Amino acid sequence: MSTCIFCAIVARAAEASIVHEDEHTLAFMDIRPFTPGHLLVVPKAHASGLADLDPEDGRRVFAVGQRVAAALRDGSVGRPGEPQDGPRADGVNFFLADGVAAGQEVFHVHLHVIPRAAGDGFGLRGRPTSPRRPDLDHLAGTIRRRLGA
Ligand code: AMP
Ligand code: ZN
Repeated sequence: MSTCIFCAIVARAAEASIVHEDEHTLAFMDIRPFTPGHLLVVPKAHASGLADLDPEDGRRVFAVGQRVAAALRDGSVGRPGEPQDGPRADGVNFFLADGVAAGQEVFHVHLHVIPRAAGDGFGLRGRPTSPRRPDLDHLAGTIRRRLGA
């Protein structure tokens, strides 16, 4: 998958600021961060979207996201008594865009890990709706059937 920028990063053919690497995943800084510390976790094996992502890789990506989120929030990083450097998140958002309609621009699955602080200006646009319970039940049944349950 030579045209995939994230495969190129995994192969070290393109530059990246790497945060974590293991056998199956890579985490690196997003080049256009929404907030300082915004990074991406990717499976090393190319998958363009959720439909072709190995569920094991999905679990691994999420687990790395959890670890990185903890590091972003962790006030104890560094030696005791020394001033902290780097992002100190008060919260973290995970975000994953699957498909053009969802805003996906890079077609190699990636989990955004976005450190949050009050007043950082990041947010999801959209207004919650208030469907009635029968409508929710109907939708739930439809999706349940698709799941084969
Ligand atoms: P999306 O596909 O909408 O979830 O977003 C793709 C994300 O990848 C954006 O946040 C980009 O800033 C980021 N991105 C694209 N190219 C690179 C790169 N070479 N290194 C790091 N991040 C990248
Ligand atoms: Zn790729």
